[in-house]
Amino acid sequence: MQAMVLKKLKTALEWTDLPDRQPGPGEIRVKVAACGVCRTDLHVVDGELPDPKVPIIPGHEIVGRIDAVGAGVDLHMGERVGIPWLGHTCGVCPYCMMHRENLCDRPLFTGFTRDGGYATATIADARFAFPLGEAGSDVALAPLLCAGLIGWRSLVIAGDGKKVGFYGFGAAAHILAQVAKWQGRSVFAFTRAGDHATQSFARTLGAVWAGGTDEMPPELLDAAIIFAPVGALVPLALKAVRKGGRVVCAGIHMSDIPSFPYKILWEERELLSVANLTRQDGIDFLRLAPKIGIITKTTSYPLKQANQALADLRAGRFEGAAVLVP
Ligand SMILES: [Zn+2]
Ligand SMILES: [Zn+2]
Repeated sequence: MQAMVLKKLKTALEWTDLPDRQPGPGEIRVKVAACGVCRTDLHVVDGELPDPKVPIIPGHEIVGRIDAVGAGVDLHMGERVGIPWLGHTCGVCPYCMMHRENLCDRPLFTGFTRDGGYATATIADARFAFPLGEAGSDVALAPLLCAGLIGWRSLVIAGDGKKVGFYGFGAAAHILAQVAKWQGRSVFAFTRAGDHATQSFARTLGAVWAGGTDEMPPELLDAAIIFAPVGALVPLALKAVRKGGRVVCAGIHMSDIPSFPYKILWEERELLSVANLTRQDGIDFLRLAPKIGIITKTTSYPLKQANQALADLRAGRFEGAAVLVP
């Protein structure tokens, strides 16, 4: 197999030949057909997340077909599956026992603490792979595995208010805008100030308003989700939500939040974060996605150009999501 490997933090990934691996008990080997590029991959490369496995093969939005099966696995050879960020949980810690496996004390995360999908093949714990069926292309489905799925968890946690703001309109927001519209909500899209291209992209996906993060929406929001890794957005979002409104930080990493006056949190506004996903999130979202008819906007790169895809994500050079194709 071949992979783009992060051999040292804060360096470019390297194209590497590796011996083929065999799946152990409970594992599957998947021939990768597409792997989305997530902002979390940038945080991994940049060394912004604690305790990575290095060297590591990044990538946790994997779509592929099973080409080897370990003992005790119910999935079948040739079946198309998606492999998400949550790669393994212990099943016995207090969080696993209270159905919050996203907070497991001893988890493994795909592309961070176990090898991921920037590769021609990967090994996964079969219990954490989602059967995807045959509808939809591999590339179109890949961004659903994290941008869609953790975005979905964020939207659920944001509550059922009608007016929802998205700060940062990238891979996750472009999917969630379609979900929120389908649910009958109004989406307000906030982009970098002056980014008119992304603002019109948001309008084409049904946003009722799009503007810069430095602007106030025309009316107060019921909830806001912050997708951009920018702590300065937290006080801005708190100012944009009504009394009792909710602000959800959806990212795994964020720059420091500047201090802000208590009065913008007061009146029972809530500030929360989202961490990881549960398998139930995946089941719920992937069941709903075909009904909504989500259309992902993707830019494909050959696997060997993973560094270019990461650079383009960092610079905001595409709308929607980047996807690597081996
Ligand atoms: Zn991700
Ligand atoms: Zn656990």
